[in-house]
Amino acid sequence: MTNWKDLDIANPTDEHAMLREMVRDWVAVEVEPQALDYDRAERFNAQLLRDMGEMGLLGITAQEEYGGAGMDALAAAIVHEELSYSDPGFALAYLAHSMLFVNNLARNGSDDQKQEILPKVCSGEWIAAMAMSEPDVGTDVLGMGTTAEEQDDGTWKINGRKMWITNGCIDDDDTPCDVVWTYAKTGQDSRGRSEISTFLVYADSPGFSVGQKIMDKTGMRASNTAELVYDDCIVSADSLVGSQGESMIHMMRNLELERLMLAAMSVGISRRALFEMNRYASEREAFGKPIRKFGQIQRYIGQSFAEWRSMESYLYNVARQMDLEKSSQRLDSDGIKLVATTLAKEIADRAMQVMGGYGYVGEYVVERLWRDAKLLEIGGGTLESHQKNITNDLAKDSSIIR
Ligand SMILES: Cc1cc2nc3c(=O)[nH]c(=O)nc-3n(C[C@H](O)[C@H](O)[C@H](O)COP(=O)(O)OP(=O)(O)OC[C@H]3O[C@@H](n4cnc5c(N)ncnc54)[C@H](O)[C@@H]3O)c2cc1C
Repeated sequence: MTNWKDLDIANPTDEHAMLREMVRDWVAVEVEPQALDYDRAERFNAQLLRDMGEMGLLGITAQEEYGGAGMDALAAAIVHEELSYSDPGFALAYLAHSMLFVNNLARNGSDDQKQEILPKVCSGEWIAAMAMSEPDVGTDVLGMGTTAEEQDDGTWKINGRKMWITNGCIDDDDTPCDVVWTYAKTGQDSRGRSEISTFLVYADSPGFSVGQKIMDKTGMRASNTAELVYDDCIVSADSLVGSQGESMIHMMRNLELERLMLAAMSVGISRRALFEMNRYASEREAFGKPIRKFGQIQRYIGQSFAEWRSMESYLYNVARQMDLEKSSQRLDSDGIKLVATTLAKEIADRAMQVMGGYGYVGEYVVERLWRDAKLLEIGGGTLESHQKNITNDLAKDSSIIR
């Protein structure tokens, strides 16, 4: 770096800046025009996701030798932010595919698994999902009920149900996605805690099916959410990822990345909401002057700008330091998700307030952002789980605030 004071924290290298420009241009032309229609119809634009394969974005953090782009967490954050400026629902489908499946496999899969599957998911030939949550278990993940038992012939039999799985189905006819990263219980460890393992379950695995596409979500309606059923589902021995019982590490490491990306989505939502309220405040007049002259409107805009700037800096500072090869960032990945998701919802709410009745209808965008933002306080870990994790981590090591 020639002068550290010149660092643009959101685009620290030329490569990052070019990526942002490319994605921003593509989003304006391809993503923005379809966003409202797909939200209203509760449909997932699978072709649009596949198109991202050609641009090298589906495997953004996967190794180049397997068809990925070999980029870092900060690059992935840029893509999530830019997509969410126009269509957070579509961005959620992108996250489930590229981070929860592709990155997970790229970091934890065997060479054979990576050679076999990564080129297909990086190109968009296959669409993928990650299944951790269940009808009765979310935050308390170790309480999961889905089990996998090894059979005499070396295959695994999986039984259970998974709930809320983004990309679990790819259309309205209960067509499953091509491959699901499935967490299941394979026993107990020496301390009596559930031992979790990962299995690659394919659309045509016997005993695997879509239970239902979950309809009538508040927001994120441009992504499909499904219940998945494993009924004596049989997968081959080589579908196990890593060693038996190893997957708590996979899960924790991937959750850190997921939380960072959900925070990046919050930054995109906030920037768009701010843009819309700022524009409207100049155009709309009341009592003979633009509404931006009113102190209460200035409070909405000023507060939102300062909060967006703060979350952007925190986001890209954590993203810059995130090492995709190890889990090391829980304190700050929880921290940025906690603060950014809450603020995104508030900023979208203020935008709606500034825009009055117009803000309340779809054409003016912010009502969709407002609905989508709420999910970010629940998915990938609830606000309460972040508060718990941060407090627990600071009890173990408080040197950062000394
Ligand atoms: C649209 C959508 C998409 C999703 N996509 C996926 C996906 O692709 N893959 C996947 O695996 N999951 C997915 N999820 C599931 C999501 O991650 C869970 O909803 C989330 O983890 C919360 O789990 P839960 O809904 O079971 O709530 P619960 O865990 O039952 O929580 C209910 C309430 O209790 C609180 N609570 C629980 N435990 C504690 C505690 N110890 N202390 C204090 N409060 C507590 C929670 O914070 C919350 O307020 C998705 C969910 C939605 C809605």
